[in-house]
Amino acid sequence: MALSARTRRLIQLDKQHVWHPFTQMKDWLADPEPLVIERGQGSLLIDTEGRRYIDGVSSLWVNVHGHRKRELDQAVRRQLGRLAHSTLLGLANVPSVELAAELIAIAPKGLSKVFYSDAGSTAVEIALKIAYQYWANQGRPRKRFITLKEAYHGDTVGSVSLGGVDLFHAAYKPLLFKTDKLPAPYCYRCPLKKRFPSCKLACLGPLKSLLAHHGNTVAAVVLEPAMMGAAGMLAQPKGYLKRVERLARQAGTLLVLDEVATGFGRTGKMWACQHEDVRPDLMACAKGLTGGYLPLAATLATDKVYQGFVRDFSEAKTFFHGHTYTGNPLACAAALANLRLFKSERTLARLAPRVRRLASALKPIAKLKHVGDVRQRGFMAGIELVRDRASQEPYGYAERMGAQACSLARRHGVLLRPLGNVVVLMPPLNIPIPLLDRLVEVTHESIRQATEGA
Ligand code: PMP
Repeated sequence: MALSARTRRLIQLDKQHVWHPFTQMKDWLADPEPLVIERGQGSLLIDTEGRRYIDGVSSLWVNVHGHRKRELDQAVRRQLGRLAHSTLLGLANVPSVELAAELIAIAPKGLSKVFYSDAGSTAVEIALKIAYQYWANQGRPRKRFITLKEAYHGDTVGSVSLGGVDLFHAAYKPLLFKTDKLPAPYCYRCPLKKRFPSCKLACLGPLKSLLAHHGNTVAAVVLEPAMMGAAGMLAQPKGYLKRVERLARQAGTLLVLDEVATGFGRTGKMWACQHEDVRPDLMACAKGLTGGYLPLAATLATDKVYQGFVRDFSEAKTFFHGHTYTGNPLACAAALANLRLFKSERTLARLAPRVRRLASALKPIAKLKHVGDVRQRGFMAGIELVRDRASQEPYGYAERMGAQACSLARRHGVLLRPLGNVVVLMPPLNIPIPLLDRLVEVTHESIRQATEGA
């Protein structure tokens, strides 16, 4: 079908002026028909040609209650009738106050302060700077950060320093500060060649010894709880997070959790750390905070951490950080409506049967000839494609097998975005069951076709 003149014009302008994130622009420019999305409705995205697609990754892991959600639309409109923006530097604004109280009411126990920013990367960057300065302010400077090898915490230089996805991060290595990177619990490709649970979480050995020997120099242990997203949906084995928490507590260091991807119900509970009753000292959240409507992030802190900054002005121990749009009222109004919807629609209770349905629909996918591993936590799932199941040999980077499967899915009305050889599924939490079934069915068939041929 020929594209309309309008779509062709938009594509031409896009190619002329827009530089897309995480995109090899040479490929983008060669694509004769990139999609231009114009509208959304529920779990669907609609392009300028009127073609409808299931939003299989929640518009990059942010959408919670679907697109054009009436209550969210209204909340933003209502706020627009009052104020679009005013600064938090030296002033308060109504939605940011109300949201902070609501967020703390649902946050893991112990967190009592909210520091706003605009993206997951900045939320992590802020946690990192708070953790560092917390120790410095007490006259006991600590510089070390312990992180995981495959971690992803965002794209600013600080959050990249905490990350360990070689493909994304190697290019910037000379710019980064050093962290202690420990092996990730990637059970399918266990770096210790052990099996869970008989391994007894041996991968935590290095953390234990590092903290035992150098604990008093470690500012914080930083990790993504339950599921390491961008690493390729690496699901942490049961008990892992709790053990990390214990080790961090014993060593007297701070525990920073990055709930940017996992927060707001994605793993089946509001926060991934709640599966193991883990209580961080600092927690970063973003993505689903506004239900996927507007860029807003928050770094939550305990009172203990916060008090480390409450000093006489002359001591210059202020947290010297703040972005222009910090606490933006429109975004905070959307976030408040998002949290209200979690209650009024019983989003998490209604998610549970969807999680089970996703789990059973994934079972046949796990049996496909070129599927090595299927990992799921709640409504986050990753399907790892391999050239050879027996040897677990991966497909080469340049083969782009994940991307091939996703481009086939697009032809059948499903939008996905892979992570290398891992096909990711992360639909809106309230996706209607028939659409969920269709999403998995198309994913199944697209993987089969991409890996086995027609
Ligand atoms: N942390 C995690 C765990 C993430 O998954 C992401 C984004 N995928 C980020 C941080 C960065 O968030 P943002 O893209 O909003 O900066």
